[in-house]
Amino acid sequence: MSQLQAKSATAATQVQRICCPNCGCSAAERYYLPEYRIIRTQCGTCDYLMVMGDKGKVIEAYAPGQDS
Ligand SMILES: [Zn+2]
Repeated sequence: MSQLQAKSATAATQVQRICCPNCGCSAAERYYLPEYRIIRTQCGTCDYLMVMGDKGKVIEAYAPGQDS
């Protein structure tokens, strides 16, 4: 199963599964959006959201509190 990949792709969105920095679950996703030069991290479990721009500058962030 070898498919041609990435080399010819321009401004393609990449998704990476990561550990949520807020609730610690492994269901968070990080979207790389080169078209907008941002990285968007979101978690469906706790509604965590972070949008980062150039040089790691935080554009938008939302981290819901936990009751634990
Ligand atoms: Zn989370």
